[in-house]
Amino acid sequence: MKYANSVLDLIGDTPLVKLNRVTEGLSATVLVKLEYLNPGGSIKDRISLKMIEEAEAAGKLAAGGTVVEPTSGNTGVGLAMVAQQKGYKTVFVTPDKVGEEKRDVLRAYGAEVVVTASSVAPESPESYYGVSDRLSREIPGAYKPDQFSNPAAPASHYESTGPEIWRDTDGKVTHAVIGAGTGGTITGTGRYLKDVSADRESGPVKIIGADPDGSVYSGGTGRPYFVEGVGEDMWPGNYDKTVADEVVAVTDAESFAMTRRLAEEEGLLVGGSSGMAVVAALRAAENLSEDDVVVVILPDGGRGYLAKIFNDGWMTRHGFLPAAAPQHDGAAQV
Ligand code: PMP
Repeated sequence: MKYANSVLDLIGDTPLVKLNRVTEGLSATVLVKLEYLNPGGSIKDRISLKMIEEAEAAGKLAAGGTVVEPTSGNTGVGLAMVAQQKGYKTVFVTPDKVGEEKRDVLRAYGAEVVVTASSVAPESPESYYGVSDRLSREIPGAYKPDQFSNPAAPASHYESTGPEIWRDTDGKVTHAVIGAGTGGTITGTGRYLKDVSADRESGPVKIIGADPDGSVYSGGTGRPYFVEGVGEDMWPGNYDKTVADEVVAVTDAESFAMTRRLAEEEGLLVGGSSGMAVVAALRAAENLSEDDVVVVILPDGGRGYLAKIFNDGWMTRHGFLPAAAPQHDGAAQV
């Protein structure tokens, strides 16, 4: 019989697949790593498992404990799944601007969701950071992983994501293209790939950061953009500036157009940060040869973006599609 003993044993070991259509005209091999095949649907399952295991080992989380984190996205799903399997409660704090569907996913895993007003300043005790700090102090046995500064996050990528890429490319990977949100993925994966290839005859793996145009990582001011999960308006503790050899800025329009092409042409229904990373990879690949092997991490799937990136009405209203495009959602909005 072939089965896993727990859903947690299915985290990681995601496959690489070659891009064949969107790469037309390029000589390099471009491979994408499908993180949506993790059981919680994103790359964040990896850090969730590691952060909780480290907290257990350090005695910060014990039987009857509660995981408290201000998140509504992929990290929430990962933490909810891991905590539930290990017998802990979860409380997530989310601002009210986050869609009800995202909160429903967390509740489906048995998590409690506390909603805070988006209108208050981040330093206010009523903000979602403020409320999560208060709850982690007040709830007995509470543990707040804090994915932005927890060293277990990059460590999980140093121990799993990086080695998987090296192993699956037989050490032939020449470039890795990785988007940064908290910075955990690029820091941990990038560090491993550079360390393992440091003495290679052809030189170390080049790490290319992919970043939404406007975010601080690519020199922006932190001005808003629509692509979710990546980019920052401040420098988080888990982002190591020395890892990326270059950081490529990608606009929302480019990211979303590529996200749609990945679904339509490559059969890959992925999120906007995946489209963004592929745009950066293809730009880098323009100057590469057939000896180059580019690996791009695709952090999550596209189901969570059906009402946005994959909706013609939403895309048109935000200027990402020409107004004359057909409207599949039937919305008569201008
Ligand atoms: N893409 C998506 C969809 C994400 O949710 C995240 C996590 N914020 C990332 C990319 C970036 O990963 P990291 O936080 O490790 O930089």
